[in-house]
Amino acid sequence: MRNYDYLIVGCGLFGSTFARLATDAGKSCLIIDKRNHIAGNCYSEKIENINVHTYGPHIFHTSNKVVWNFVNRFSEFNNFILSPKGNYKGKLYSLPFNMNTFYEMWGVTTPDQAKEIIQKQRFEGTPKNLEEQALSLVGKDIYETLIKGYTTKQWGKDPKELPSFIIKRLPLRFVFDNNYFNDRYQGIPIGGYTQMFEKMLDGIEVRLSTDYLSDREYFDSLADKVVYTGCIDEFFDYKYGELEYRSLEFSHEVLDTDNYQGLAQLNYCDTDVSYTRIIEHKHFEKSDSEKTVITKEYPKQYEKGLTPYYPINNEVNQSIYKKYQEESKSLTNFIFGGRLTEYKYMDMHVVIESAINKFRGEV
Ligand code: FAD
Ligand code: UDP
Repeated sequence: MRNYDYLIVGCGLFGSTFARLATDAGKSCLIIDKRNHIAGNCYSEKIENINVHTYGPHIFHTSNKVVWNFVNRFSEFNNFILSPKGNYKGKLYSLPFNMNTFYEMWGVTTPDQAKEIIQKQRFEGTPKNLEEQALSLVGKDIYETLIKGYTTKQWGKDPKELPSFIIKRLPLRFVFDNNYFNDRYQGIPIGGYTQMFEKMLDGIEVRLSTDYLSDREYFDSLADKVVYTGCIDEFFDYKYGELEYRSLEFSHEVLDTDNYQGLAQLNYCDTDVSYTRIIEHKHFEKSDSEKTVITKEYPKQYEKGLTPYYPINNEVNQSIYKKYQEESKSLTNFIFGGRLTEYKYMDMHVVIESAINKFRGEV
């Protein structure tokens, strides 16, 4: 019965990277995914000749040359740099937090003037949660304008109940630079993410609309080892409790205009608007379509049956996760990887790095 070296559960970035590396090393792989398409949350589809990021904006960024070379095997990348704006009650501010933001907020024109204002408004002491961390980094005005409302909507929790690392994802700089990331390499795969995955999966067997958990015994019998990239609590049938996730609803609209908002990503930072951001996809790849496609992103309470987009890494969930993680180590025929299994807020480059390292452990 064992026809494959690896059965890979999940055709997202972790599963596809692992499968590519294993196939290149002469191993046989079968990938299954319960969705009806490849590429997991990176999936893109063409609408009105525009590559639409179906599951939210995906900007590739990394400082790791090995990872950058890996993705460039499958696609050319453009030179897109993410520079979103934050809309607070109709006024626009530059993101991430930099001299442009400070000028727009306070009219200050030098780094020393900006630092002086932040210093007066800062939280002093060791930050223990997202609110204290944000106040410690940028002070009260920016926290209340650009962070508090957005964060409350995004996570459905008071920022005091959230871990501080979430806000440390955003750069803070005292230069006029709106680049959302600090990484050396950044861009969007020309032609879309799905096309990049198609090339990555060249010669690898993929079965879609196939749920591993519907018949584990059968699927386990197909291969010597199983690479699992789904939710770890589901894998163990929730024996230590359910982990919390945050879900999202994406509302895609085709509009009869060639330029709706003038940039790829506009965040809505107050709570008067219920969505967190509007993405205008044509700006990722500079499409010359006469129409445009926008996506409003509505955060949503997760429940079984919805897609678990973000882990909620607070203390309670981390302690449940640790139990699953411990137990997973005893299953020697299984490899666990990806953001749902590691229960971690992982960007794409981190997922690829992790898959490369896990595969190295195999050879
Ligand atoms: P996934 O893409 O979730 O793949 C897991 C796959 O496993 C899924 O396709 C799922 O259907 C399948 N699966 C699960 N259970 C089963 C089962 N029982 N049987 C069969 N199949 C199963 N990263 C960046 O670097 N830059 C960005 O700009 C960025 N923006 C993002 C925006 C949003 C809204 C989100 C949610 C994430 C963003 N990310 C971004 C993160 C990026 O999406 C992830 O790093 C990456 O997709 C994770 O890949 P993965 O393979 O771990 O997970
Ligand atoms: N955030 C915020 N205001 C913004 C953008 C981000 O308060 O305008 C906070 C929010 O808590 C968010 C976190 O910073 O969850 C990380 O932002 P990022 O843009 O990395 O989120 P992602 O694109 O991964 O959803």
